[in-house]
Amino acid sequence: MSQSQNYCPDCQSELVWQPEGYFCDFCQQPFRKEAYCNECGVRLEKLQACGSASYFCHCCNELKSKSRVKIVFAPQAEAQ
Ligand SMILES: [Zn+2]
Ligand SMILES: [Zn+2]
Repeated sequence: MSQSQNYCPDCQSELVWQPEGYFCDFCQQPFRKEAYCNECGVRLEKLQACGSASYFCHCCNELKSKSRVKIVFAPQAEAQ
């Protein structure tokens, strides 16, 4: 289990982890955790390997360690 703290980009409240994703109690809004490449800014594909997450950039064509990715919390758009 990750112990990292995750905060709402809108109100800076701590996000709650739910089965569908992160949720801000204050804003009543679900958020998606997305990772972007530090070097080219492309959205990374998350890979699960042996319990630890790593990220793959299809643009750089290489695996990125957590220190080389930019984590962004994006509001989950309502399905129309
Ligand atoms: Zn919030
Ligand atoms: Zn890249």
